[in-house]
Amino acid sequence: MAERVEIFDTTLRDGEQSPGSSMDEHEKLQMAKQLDRLGVDIIEAGFPIASKQEFEGVRKIAQHVENARVAALARSLPSDIERAAAALEPAKRPVLHTFIATSDIHLEHKLRMSRQEVLDNAAKAVALAKKLVGRVEFSAEDATRSDWDYLVEVTKVAIEAGADVINLPDTVGYTTPSEIRGMFEHVIKNVPGSEKVIFSSHNHNDLGLAVANALAAVQGGARQIECTVSGIGERAGNTSLEEVVMAMRTRHDVYDFDCGVESLELVPSSSLLTKITGLHIPYNKPIVGRNAFAHESGIHQHGMIANRQTYEIMTPESVGRSRSELVLGKHSGRAGLASRSEELGYNLSEAELKDLYERFIDLADKKKEVYDDDLRMLIVSLHNESFEVYHLTDLRTSGNDPAMALVSLRKGEEAFTDTATGDGPVHAACMAIERIVGVSGRLEQFDVRATTPGKDALGEAYVTVAFGEKTYKGNGASTDIIRAAVSAYLNALNKYLALSESFEKA
Ligand SMILES: [Zn+2]
Repeated sequence: MAERVEIFDTTLRDGEQSPGSSMDEHEKLQMAKQLDRLGVDIIEAGFPIASKQEFEGVRKIAQHVENARVAALARSLPSDIERAAAALEPAKRPVLHTFIATSDIHLEHKLRMSRQEVLDNAAKAVALAKKLVGRVEFSAEDATRSDWDYLVEVTKVAIEAGADVINLPDTVGYTTPSEIRGMFEHVIKNVPGSEKVIFSSHNHNDLGLAVANALAAVQGGARQIECTVSGIGERAGNTSLEEVVMAMRTRHDVYDFDCGVESLELVPSSSLLTKITGLHIPYNKPIVGRNAFAHESGIHQHGMIANRQTYEIMTPESVGRSRSELVLGKHSGRAGLASRSEELGYNLSEAELKDLYERFIDLADKKKEVYDDDLRMLIVSLHNESFEVYHLTDLRTSGNDPAMALVSLRKGEEAFTDTATGDGPVHAACMAIERIVGVSGRLEQFDVRATTPGKDALGEAYVTVAFGEKTYKGNGASTDIIRAAVSAYLNALNKYLALSESFEKA
């Protein structure tokens, strides 16, 4: 029987800390529920000491995740570990993940500690973590650039202090498949008690080797892979969850290992992440990219018609792609919408469903076919409005040079209307919003794309807006691209208003 490899997802921790991927508490929770449906073994929810918001985010996930273990990260400091343990308190199956660097370059320039000091520190940290939380993972940061014999010592100390999982990360994306395999073999062979713990591999993709290195680590004895949806993460990202899972499944003859991931949820998970963060997935990205299963050349098409196996090593259906093409129409009715939303993993209340249905009919009027991605986008905007301070009630724009915009907003019972001019209709509308709200934002990033194919597609807009020192992300969707952009700007503004204290006092 094939051995089991655990999938440790760090989309919400390592992934989330990369630029452009930040998520608020609610978005993290939405993603965590999807990861739970995807069947990952562990969800790393965040780094609780980083901020109050981060702490609350981890706590919420710990409360709501049903099946997966929930992990929180802590440096090897008592304050970090206590904070992480407190955030994990509601979790059914918590994992405390603590780390310290082990490479000489980190010891000398970052930690300014001797090898002995690091050993003492690791032992104390693991022992404290073990006292507070039942399951502890210890990571030797920058393991792949550490002395292998020193890694053996650190691992030994961590196991003696009670660690259940030993992670040897390639923090800087530097190692190669044969090297990492050798490292795991060396440590596992030389550490007394190595058979009592699970070894884990965490890789970065700076040289494009993250997936290959993770698979080689498994061949060297690792039984846990740390990865992220679509490979998001610091710099060039982490090991792509969907790639590593489908490599083990498609080449089971070479990688004789099983994991608990439900592959039908791979594409939906990547889709949801894109909706939440606005991140672009390259068209040629394996498994989840738009073109990953598209056969354009005539020779390929001819072969595919004769027999799909001529050019297809796995089917798009097996990774959940055909499901995302399911189409709802105007006549699908409320029951159809409700069951589809549920299948996509949303548990909506009666009131939310009613609201969603109105929007759905509205969209179905403009666009004959409503795809799953359209539905996800509608649900994301529904959430955006749940904490709205100002709601967009009317928008009219004209001309281009200069453009004119008339904007009507509602705040509770109050209604406001103003007009402004600007360089283009979106700018003019933002200026009008500024006049009404009295807050000035600077648009730092602006990205527009179509959710689904077709001339009448739903347009999605993603913006990053700076208000003073802080930046907020906003998104919006509409069949009218200008309205989508203005909604996205207003969404960012609403986040700023809802989160800034000065506003509460005012
Ligand atoms: Zn990392």
